[in-house]
Amino acid sequence: PAEPAPAPAPAPKPAARPPTVRHRMFQKILIANRGEIAARVARTARALGVRTVAVHSDADARALHVEACDEAVRLGPAPVGESYLKGDAIIAAALATGAQAIHPGYGFLSENPDFAEAVEAGGLVFIGPPAAAIRAMGLKDAAKARMEAAGVPVVPGYHGERQELDFLAGEADAIGYPVLIKARAGGGGKGMRRVEAPEDFPEALQGAQAEAKAAFGDDRVLIEKYVARPRHIEIQLMADAHGKVLHLNERDCSLQRRHQKVIEEAPAPGMTPQMRNEIGAAAVRAAEAIGYRGAGTVEFIADASDGLRADRVYFMEMNTRLQVEHPVTEATTGLDLVEWQLRVAAGEALPFAQEDLAPKGWSFEARLYAENPAKGFLPQTGSLARLRLPQTTARVDTGVREGDAVTPHYDPMIAKVISHGTTRAEALGRLAAALAETEVAGLATNLDFLQALCAHRGFVAGDVDTGLIDRDVGELAAPSPTPPEAAPLALITALGLLSSARERSPYDAADGFRLWGHERRGAILEGPDGAVETRIDIMGDGRFSMQGDTLLTLSGPPDALRVAVGNAAARPVAFARDVGRDGDRIHVLLEGRTYDFTLPDPFASASEAAVGGDAVTAPMPGLVKRLSATAGASVREGQTLLVLEAMKMEHRLLAPRDGVVERVLHAEGAQVEDGALLVALVPLED
Ligand code: ADP
Ligand code: ADP
Ligand code: MG
Repeated sequence: PAEPAPAPAPAPKPAARPPTVRHRMFQKILIANRGEIAARVARTARALGVRTVAVHSDADARALHVEACDEAVRLGPAPVGESYLKGDAIIAAALATGAQAIHPGYGFLSENPDFAEAVEAGGLVFIGPPAAAIRAMGLKDAAKARMEAAGVPVVPGYHGERQELDFLAGEADAIGYPVLIKARAGGGGKGMRRVEAPEDFPEALQGAQAEAKAAFGDDRVLIEKYVARPRHIEIQLMADAHGKVLHLNERDCSLQRRHQKVIEEAPAPGMTPQMRNEIGAAAVRAAEAIGYRGAGTVEFIADASDGLRADRVYFMEMNTRLQVEHPVTEATTGLDLVEWQLRVAAGEALPFAQEDLAPKGWSFEARLYAENPAKGFLPQTGSLARLRLPQTTARVDTGVREGDAVTPHYDPMIAKVISHGTTRAEALGRLAAALAETEVAGLATNLDFLQALCAHRGFVAGDVDTGLIDRDVGELAAPSPTPPEAAPLALITALGLLSSARERSPYDAADGFRLWGHERRGAILEGPDGAVETRIDIMGDGRFSMQGDTLLTLSGPPDALRVAVGNAAARPVAFARDVGRDGDRIHVLLEGRTYDFTLPDPFASASEAAVGGDAVTAPMPGLVKRLSATAGASVREGQTLLVLEAMKMEHRLLAPRDGVVERVLHAEGAQVEDGALLVALVPLED
């Protein structure tokens, strides 16, 4: 057989012709992320006809983001260090599957310049800025110095080299209290301490340094003036590879808790077109100064003590990636930011003019998290026994489905709910309506908290600042009162009387159910308001009497069950039961609200009894990050015994009282289960 003729050597190009810019859309990309953002990138890629490769850990083998892509590559076990942070394995997966580019999403490797460089060195396109631009903005102190040089106003403060306590304390005095100590390598609100007065400075500095060292391996800090009545205002940027940088207006992310965003909106309340131009231009200058390309966000902090004023807006940091809250910009500009990330990464020029990009209407995004506001917003893990997300009132970006688990390995975000309207009031009304449509059972969420926020007078009036949530957190996070029928319904579920409630006629005794004679059952259930003694009398035909008096009647088929209390009209009720774990958790869903109950665990008291004094147990599954307790040491109430890392947060477990450490049950680095005994204390002998 004849060998195919070698292709003729290409004719030399005429020297006069300008180099042609490659802008052919990718045929296949790899998405180096998980959860909602991976699924969201896949959606746009599909719409553009680009094939997608997912990567996943073992915990995510059947995750939604894997299903959303055309093919998938396993990276390794669940911990991020063995999966989503394995840059080499991700690049190898891209090469093996024939992907031409890698989209990093947010978090994970998205702001890692070494990864961006390695991707390009492998002959692939990094869908993001050049490594040098990521590096320029990676450390907050260097970024501020650079921005100052580019004529962008920065938060007053010290961001130099020196790190000695005396020197920094002197700088803090010069800046004027209150000040904010920030980890220069910080992110996600970590390594930050607000200091009110000079006497608190040394301890706060030590705390910030320790947290920064632990979280980022870098204990260097900067000191900033704590801006009065702060508002977080950020500018979305999009830059192409041909030197064009456009801004896509601002977002207001002032609704925060512990420096982390909760609800975001665009535009910012009170923003004038002129001020938008000024802040937008400053953000564009920032991007131009570092040769930026792709999507990015410049974050500013505004002193709003006299309303929004352009001369009181300061550069804070730049996030060199797509941001969690990008959908509110999409809703108000009509642009798909992921589409433009792909297009500019493929070399396409931005065809828009700045004048064409003014915001249209208003948009909100609420972040639905698996966390328990009533317990200090403790992250929750478990199975999403029920998940109903709004269908029509809002856009929903999610990475999970009903039945999926929220694990301690990753971010506990369940979904982002995004509304749009012609006015702020309309958009906020739609957000509230969408949240009212949302139902989650199986684990505690911040859903009620988000709904309470939507009704907050200051927020409704657009009078926002980063202290709003903290000031009113008591009211906002207050659990809604548990209706009296919730516990009896939980008991009915626990006893398995539910599915047949309607069919159960007085003549039917198939499962030994006693006829006529009112069987009485009772249990102590651990509910939202603590332990409740619950009694029901089973009267047959779907009728029960609760606590010995009020009649509770169940009707309808199990999947559309209704409950009536006394003479009140019947209301729909949904039950969900978490069959994971020990099968001891029951969730009652009434009118969109979930009430969680736990059946008493007969073994719990036994294991507690084994400990002489106090047992310090894990409030959630996690990793023993640091141990301060040693057996035999005496400790004071409130002293840190150990630091548990779970869901990317560090939780300090404190001594409940003065005592002596009797036993330490796990070493540093141990992965522990929810409820595991960690440290046993015995009383001080005097
Ligand atoms: P934004 O929420 O505005 O996009 P953040 O800096 O709060 O910006 O974080 C974006 C995402 O990046 C978070 O949801 C989180 O998943 C991830 N992330 C942020 N900081 C860290 C961190 N220190 N370690 C790991 N992931 C982080
Ligand atoms: P991160 O990298 O963790 O996102 P940022 O520097 O963006 O760190 O700050 C996070 C949040 O902390 C801001 O959104 C704002 O609410 C608050 N913050 C930061 N700097 C200041 C400041 N100088 N004054 C008041 N609040 C600040
Ligand atoms: Mg930030």
